[in-house]
Amino acid sequence: MSIKNILNKDNFSKDDIVNLLKLNENDSNELYDFAYQTKKKYVGNFTYLRALIEYSNICSKNCLYCGIRYGNKNVTRYTMSDEEILESVSYAMDNQYSSIVIQGGEIESKKHTEHINDLIKKIMDLSEGKIGITLSLGEQSYDTYRLWRQSGAKRYLLRIESSNEELFYKIHNKNENHNFQKRVECLKMLKDSDYQVGTGIMIGLPEQTLDHLADDVFFMIDLDIDMIGMGPYIEHIDTPLFEKREMLLPLNERFNLSLKLISIMRIFMKDINIAASTAMQTIDSEGKEKALKAGANILMPNITPLQYKENYKLYENKPKFDELSNEFMENIKKWVSNAGDIIKFDKHGDSIHYKNKQFKVK
Ligand code: SF4
Repeated sequence: MSIKNILNKDNFSKDDIVNLLKLNENDSNELYDFAYQTKKKYVGNFTYLRALIEYSNICSKNCLYCGIRYGNKNVTRYTMSDEEILESVSYAMDNQYSSIVIQGGEIESKKHTEHINDLIKKIMDLSEGKIGITLSLGEQSYDTYRLWRQSGAKRYLLRIESSNEELFYKIHNKNENHNFQKRVECLKMLKDSDYQVGTGIMIGLPEQTLDHLADDVFFMIDLDIDMIGMGPYIEHIDTPLFEKREMLLPLNERFNLSLKLISIMRIFMKDINIAASTAMQTIDSEGKEKALKAGANILMPNITPLQYKENYKLYENKPKFDELSNEFMENIKKWVSNAGDIIKFDKHGDSIHYKNKQFKVK
């Protein structure tokens, strides 16, 4: 079946998705263009910015692919003080960011819950409730999620990484700290707590097949998620998964698969938010621009102070841009305009998918 026939169908089958993932470079452009037109129609040709603050690299988990896993002793651990975080929030506001993302390793404790809760309140006070807060702090209890939501956080990112349970346990040790069902439960709890919920996958993992990726697409649709943050898997030398590097696709193939998945998710879910991941820029200097052209609509410049940023490496070769510089902001503007988009500086850029669901309920 030709790509046109597939794209004009109302519903894609698993085979259709696998065929789209197999497209050669020329035909892929048709997929990207179709996805960009879908983006334009349903969410506009707008790009929204979130200022990312990686506030701590302390993590209780040991995910087999992650450079800041608990077991990696080659990392200098840090946690930004509340004052430093608030300075970063002020920087974000001064530089026209309307939303921030607070990201850190996963810790589950009463003290941590209370600390984050206080921090959310401080950020709400500082911004007079104007800044949109996204959290990316891993698996937590239902009560914790609800508490943080009530205090002002409104979006939460929790990647499933792979929706295939068997593959999930090839990238996480199977134990009480790493449990596939718990991750799925957490995503459901987040929805139930009224967050705009984001999830995502790693693309190009060792032993991952196109069938797995097609199943991931259906997983995200079935969960009716509001936002996606996904990107190519890039190996980190200080991790157990590095031993499987011989099994990996070349980086450019992982990149192209990521672009295709952005397009497929845009075509399927139309009004969700999709981030252009930093990992894409790591592989291709035009990665973010290409991701926007393929259907993404969110960029997340990293405004973590430089003295900490070096120690927050989930994977290697993270781009070493000074994302706090004027030059970087000029780059963002260039990528966005090359993609045909306009930056909406003054808008939170809430997921239209989430808003449409609220509207339907009412
Ligand atoms: S992926 Fe997240 S939860 Fe896993 S080790 Fe890294 S920071 Fe911790």
